[in-house]
Amino acid sequence: MRILVWKWKDGDWHPEQLTGLFRIGCAAALMSIDPVRADAIAVVVVAEAGSNIVGVRGSLLPAGISALRDRDKIDLIGETYWVSAECSPREEIYDPLRHGSDVRCFMTKARLRAGEPITVCVGTATAPCGTVYRQRAWADLLTRPGFRCPNCSYDPRAELWKPPVPLERPLPFSQALRAMQEARQ
Ligand SMILES: [Zn+2]
Repeated sequence: MRILVWKWKDGDWHPEQLTGLFRIGCAAALMSIDPVRADAIAVVVVAEAGSNIVGVRGSLLPAGISALRDRDKIDLIGETYWVSAECSPREEIYDPLRHGSDVRCFMTKARLRAGEPITVCVGTATAPCGTVYRQRAWADLLTRPGFRCPNCSYDPRAELWKPPVPLERPLPFSQALRAMQEARQ
């Protein structure tokens, strides 16, 4: 599962994969976590100096570490970021040492042979999966209208989620943040 940080630039949202640390402003950073859970796909770390200037889900964060969920919006004075989990299935080569010694294709029920190309469904942010398919079986399934992974309901045709286009007028929340910043100067 890839965790994306979205930044607004040149009139569109641009995703960047979150690996390790992603600084937002000088007193806060987004960090990847492993494993990802339904209630936390990343964390935001706020330094003492950044206390009460970073907003998530409408609340200002104290200094410390706070969990971020899929499709959370992070507001910082004058800037907005979003985080999301992208759940593309992984194409791998079956290795009994890595995937287990007696694994069958979820669809064909055929026992996998070492070296066989497989597709591993990673699931969604709320339902991690791990179901293994023969690559050819997965490709066949993709041709069936409305196919979803039977184990986790992941929809392989769903478009990559993108944050909503920001309003032209500043949100009351960002106005409040700006007012706070001015009060500190
Ligand atoms: Zn699945």
